[in-house]
Amino acid sequence: MAKYNDAKCRLCRREGTKLFLKGDRCFTDKCSQDRRPYAPGQHGRARKKVSEYALQLREKQKVRRMYGVLEHQFHGYFVSADMAKGVTGSNLLATLERRLDNVIYRMGFANSRSQARQMVRHGIFTLNGHKVNIPSLQVRVGDEILVPENNRKIPVIAEAQEAIARRGCPAWLEVDGSAFKGVIKALPQRDDIQTPINESLIVELYSK
Ligand code: SF4
Repeated sequence: MAKYNDAKCRLCRREGTKLFLKGDRCFTDKCSQDRRPYAPGQHGRARKKVSEYALQLREKQKVRRMYGVLEHQFHGYFVSADMAKGVTGSNLLATLERRLDNVIYRMGFANSRSQARQMVRHGIFTLNGHKVNIPSLQVRVGDEILVPENNRKIPVIAEAQEAIARRGCPAWLEVDGSAFKGVIKALPQRDDIQTPINESLIVELYSK
């Protein structure tokens, strides 16, 4: 996957909203979006006329950056969401939520999705008793994610478990922190995603 090497906080400021890319820092007064709530760069504070297309594009970029997915893969998710039964926008968000790296972040075993992705790549977790190293893997109902005994002393896991108390765990996941285990109780529904996202703008953008 291509790597974004610039400051992550610039992405939040570009999208004009908190994308929660830096773990615990996002919940402190050090958050750049809170301190400088305007776009980065020399003309960041300039007033601009926003077209309908720009609104749709920014919403798509916001969600893509939030979940750390590249354009090609994101478009692939949209195509599958469009072909599946139900509302396309909700299907798209559910697909993003079901990514293994997102689930590990939501369960509180990592501080951010990018950290979760790196940990998955290093084979820190098991899925249904088998080692996994594919961050984009789609979880299913009943799947069990475990931090094996030999990995439980990794400091970032302990830090992330403390931080989950502030973030809260969504209802579709069940986590037993002391056993370092999480289970997928149900598939994510639209109401489970609290972040303000207007997915219909993304559907309009791709439907042109
Ligand atoms: Fe975004 Fe977090 Fe940086 Fe705030 S601290 S601007 S939420 S990445």
